[in-house]
Amino acid sequence: MRLPADYHMHTPLCRHATGEPDDYARRAVEVGLDEIGFSDHSPMRRDDFDNWRMRFDQLDEYVEKVRRAQKNFPQLTIRLALEVDYLPGHEDWIRELAARHPWDYFIGSVHYVSDSWDIDNPAKLSEWKKRDAFEVWQIYFGRLALAAESKLFEIIGHADLPKKFGHKPKQDCTPLYEKFLDSAKKSGCAIELNTAGLRKECKEIYPSREILQLAFQKGVPICFGSDAHKPEEVGMNFTEAISLARETGYAECCRFLKRTRQSVKF
Ligand SMILES: [Zn+2]
Ligand SMILES: [Zn+2]
Repeated sequence: MRLPADYHMHTPLCRHATGEPDDYARRAVEVGLDEIGFSDHSPMRRDDFDNWRMRFDQLDEYVEKVRRAQKNFPQLTIRLALEVDYLPGHEDWIRELAARHPWDYFIGSVHYVSDSWDIDNPAKLSEWKKRDAFEVWQIYFGRLALAAESKLFEIIGHADLPKKFGHKPKQDCTPLYEKFLDSAKKSGCAIELNTAGLRKECKEIYPSREILQLAFQKGVPICFGSDAHKPEEVGMNFTEAISLARETGYAECCRFLKRTRQSVKF
């Protein structure tokens, strides 16, 4: 069986990951992957925006590190990508980033539901006490739909990140999911099955089975990512993610080269 590519992994440049690209690549070969992609947290226009991403002046160094891994592991296909934060109003900046290097894909992720609250940040967990979960879901999925519509991204990252710490609205969120997935389908944007959720309090792959079923019905393509922040996490829990995708009906996933999508069986 050909394993899906692991398209979501980080480097120490983001200040909260360990291990060099060579170490991630070595691990990928060990676990039997034939393709991976580095998608570290992209710089913001302002380097003091937060403290969990590379600085802008490190972007070339990031690309060099990935290029070095490509040279050192010729038996492995290694793609060059970024996990880019989507915030409304940041579109021009994202286009500037896109023009700087021959990227293979961009993962568009929503971590921020306002300019100051990154909902997955453990240091800001207390903020959840002040907020209504449904309101967070509404803002989050509204932004996710805008990210999909923007056509700035090939992949939408961890599509139900607000569940990370175990929060869940009582209301029916199906209309929010539908709107986002309709946008993804219309723009030809894939969603990732991100196994990092299994390592968090929610103990679930992102996105949920419910969202994935809707995605399949609408014909939204998928890809896979471990969101590895250390080499041991490369390809982690892919067996579970593959099972979930198969149970939902998926038999194909995406690969990307120079921002062009290709479908392959898994
Ligand atoms: Zn991270
Ligand atoms: Zn992320």
